[in-house]
Amino acid sequence: MAWVGNPVWLADVLRAEGLTVIEHDGWLTRGHGEYRDIRGVMAHHTAGGTPNDWRVVMFGRPDLPGPLSNLVLEKDGTYRVVAAGVCWHAGRGSWPGWPTNNANWHVIGIEAVSTGRPDAQGRFDWTPEQLDAYVRGCAAIARKVGFSVNNVVGHKEYSSEGKIDPAGIDMADFRRQVQQVIVNGPGPVDREVFPLPTGYYFGPLEGPTESISGQHPSERPQWREGLKFWQARQEIPQTGVWDAATADAARAVQRAHGWRPDGLIGPGTWAAGLRGAPAPEPVPEPTPTPEPEPVPIPEPDQPSAPDSESQSNLRWPLVIVRRIPGWVRERIPFGR
Ligand SMILES: [Zn+2]
Repeated sequence: MAWVGNPVWLADVLRAEGLTVIEHDGWLTRGHGEYRDIRGVMAHHTAGGTPNDWRVVMFGRPDLPGPLSNLVLEKDGTYRVVAAGVCWHAGRGSWPGWPTNNANWHVIGIEAVSTGRPDAQGRFDWTPEQLDAYVRGCAAIARKVGFSVNNVVGHKEYSSEGKIDPAGIDMADFRRQVQQVIVNGPGPVDREVFPLPTGYYFGPLEGPTESISGQHPSERPQWREGLKFWQARQEIPQTGVWDAATADAARAVQRAHGWRPDGLIGPGTWAAGLRGAPAPEPVPEPTPTPEPEPVPIPEPDQPSAPDSESQSNLRWPLVIVRRIPGWVRERIPFGR
């Protein structure tokens, strides 16, 4: 069930998703023409990052008349509905199932307010409210028109003109989130599941980008909620922040499993901390600052436990002790 013609339902559909909507006067008749069949939605950033970015989207620039997008997504998660008609946003490019260099007549544009530039730590100025509304807005439109999540596309993915927007958003991860909302609605999440995208972990604010501290405004609220759940299981304060107590708890879990105690929480440490037993497939943790492995001191008088973990801890110092006589024999000419 495709939709042919202008998406005159934009404001209603977004509101039904629980989003805040501002309808600009005349939006129903604003545009560069009538939509044909609607096949997708394209995500952009404004590159301005100011509360006035929407004016450029509505009225255009000296070189390009407005409207430049159907929707503007503010930093607080509010949607401005600017135009129901065709907007100049896609430019030249291609995407499976869309007409090459001609997407504007088939694709709804969302311009989200962002500078598009990373800070010194490589992070972008997206707010949690904005990212949440971005995902839910795309899901609401996809559900209304009935196109698949594969048609929620970043300008940077479509463009043959070197566009980089929306910068700082991994579109594959974004589509996974949109799919989750389409299928489940904004319902409860499985809190046992590691809440971060692939390659990310809970760690210090100083970075790198994959290190989620719970302290940066670009981080999603559900990540902090996830960390609180893990903290509750460790019986430490539920701060939602990777603080000293959290790093200590992670190190305790890692030591109990014979892993390098770096205090960072990736999927392996996450699962181990929740289950209190080794994860089926321990995932190697990221290693920004390698720490020396503590050397266990063998105690020959103490009967060794049949536990394989303690065996492996004892093994290598004993091997060294056994090798010392041979090493000495080879180097000192006894009896010659
Ligand atoms: Zn764009």
